[in-house]
Amino acid sequence: MTNSYREDFPILLRDDTIYFDNAATSQRPRQVTEAMRRFDETCNANPMRGLYRWSIEATEQYEQARSDAAELIGAADSREIVFTRNTTESINLAAYSYGLNFLKEGDEIVVSVMEHHSNLLPWQMVSRQTGARLVFLEPEADGTLTEQELLSKITPRTRLVAIGHVSNVLGVTNPVKRIAEIAHQNGALVLVDGAQSTPHMPVNVQELGADFYAFSGHKMLGPMGIGALYARKELLEEMPPFLSGGEMIEYVSRESATYAEIPHKFEAGTVNASGAAGLSAAIHYLKNVGFYTIRETEERLTARLMKGLQELPYITIYGSQDSKKHCGIVTFNIEGCHPHDVASVLDSEQVAIRAGHHCAQPLMKFLGVGSTARASLYFYNTEEEVDRFLDKISKVRGWLGY
Ligand code: PMP
Repeated sequence: MTNSYREDFPILLRDDTIYFDNAATSQRPRQVTEAMRRFDETCNANPMRGLYRWSIEATEQYEQARSDAAELIGAADSREIVFTRNTTESINLAAYSYGLNFLKEGDEIVVSVMEHHSNLLPWQMVSRQTGARLVFLEPEADGTLTEQELLSKITPRTRLVAIGHVSNVLGVTNPVKRIAEIAHQNGALVLVDGAQSTPHMPVNVQELGADFYAFSGHKMLGPMGIGALYARKELLEEMPPFLSGGEMIEYVSRESATYAEIPHKFEAGTVNASGAAGLSAAIHYLKNVGFYTIRETEERLTARLMKGLQELPYITIYGSQDSKKHCGIVTFNIEGCHPHDVASVLDSEQVAIRAGHHCAQPLMKFLGVGSTARASLYFYNTEEEVDRFLDKISKVRGWLGY
């Protein structure tokens, strides 16, 4: 079956490369690069500062992107969106501004063993500096977090649960709504790492019960260098700035300063306005494709991919064996072959996959492996690519002399 969306992605037309590293970075459609070029060629000026037309237009585009991002994730108010560089910076903002100032010794921060390092190291830092204790949710072998595990780890001592919405290794979708219910019953807040969910599924932070929600533009058709932290308005108002300097102030004297209103209080220095214009275009593109189509395409391709891999007895697929529970992410190992060798030999065959620990070393330890290979799909991939990939995978052991 052909995929008409591919026409919009110049890089996919470049050659026959099978790009299966979408969980690391997605490709950008022409509509996104054109929106950024339009910004650069028509209104590139410092947003928020100038009183002249170009700067005003740059500000308008930047604020439009904020409204688009708010609408995408169901925020009640666009002021609840703080633009950052990426998910990592968003979580650090929450950790430095909320974690260091509102958590203390005796408190517990609950994370899962599956977290990407970006949703672990900031909380390790908060734990070291405040004395709050890190508590780990342990998944079942297939990546599921059971009700019993949630109830036993999220307690009245919990002040914050920091949880990935979708694991970048197992592809499992965590029961974030239920986690938020339990956390809130215990008086704790919830931060959701949405890096791997925002590109693939409709998200509504209010329905999920997320107090904080982080995502990156580059994984959802947008440019690198723009991401966002959503936080409830009352939280942002209470939280002190993370970075300080230009643009985030109300009044400055020699010794002190008062800060701008949210969200500007958290956006020190010149912002990435052309990136925001690109993010807006990416959001529009995703909405046009529709999350139903995205999900349906990914499920079809993932089922085909997993079936092909499952037929090879020397391949281990990590996480659930049910392709519907993978969100397009399939992590595997080929017996006898180091994943780096697998990725390298596939590169020489024009296949791009990821190999390594996927910035999730505690999960690698839990799985009992040092590293794995990972193929991650998006809606612009095709059945023909999956079949070509499977054909090459079946030859890898021969190529590597196993
Ligand atoms: N969390 C998860 C679940 C991820 O998959 C990633 C990216 N691999 C990140 C956080 C970090 O995203 P970024 O590099 O855009 O900050």
